[in-house]
Amino acid sequence: MKINIASVLRNDGASKEFSGEAELGNLEYMGSTLNFEKPLKIEGRIHNIGGTLEISAQITGEYTTVCSRCGIDISGSFSAELFESIDDELSDIDEECITVSGNVIDISGSIDACIFGSLPMQPLCKEDCKGLCHKCGTDLNKNECNCEDEVYDPRFAIFRKLSKEV
Ligand SMILES: [Zn+2]
Ligand SMILES: [Zn+2]
Repeated sequence: MKINIASVLRNDGASKEFSGEAELGNLEYMGSTLNFEKPLKIEGRIHNIGGTLEISAQITGEYTTVCSRCGIDISGSFSAELFESIDDELSDIDEECITVSGNVIDISGSIDACIFGSLPMQPLCKEDCKGLCHKCGTDLNKNECNCEDEVYDPRFAIFRKLSKEV
């Protein structure tokens, strides 16, 4: 994403707003597929504060995916904050995040890093989703199955031991 910063360069106190979009499409991430049907929205501002250009932006969007435990379709909203600061002589810039050409900076690298740092690691339909039974595949949010007794739980093991000793 390219931004012409001529108006804020070497201009203490000046600021400039910018906006744009980032197209992600279908994204494989940590074993989940996140489907961003619409591009992410990016809205930000560059502010020259005493010779430092502070770049801040809000990145927002919606995605659909499946619950990583039970597999039902879910949707979620994505939101991330981007912040970079560079000196307005445009020297000493981390080129993985920002590249400069004349009065135009490209912050695509920074946007990508910000998005990847904020993606949901394990999307869930609800915080306490019980998932599917590993043995029979029953959706444990809806039904119980008879496999549960065989799941090893150390707390029950102690009870069993006690009941034998009594
Ligand atoms: Zn679930
Ligand atoms: Zn089961």
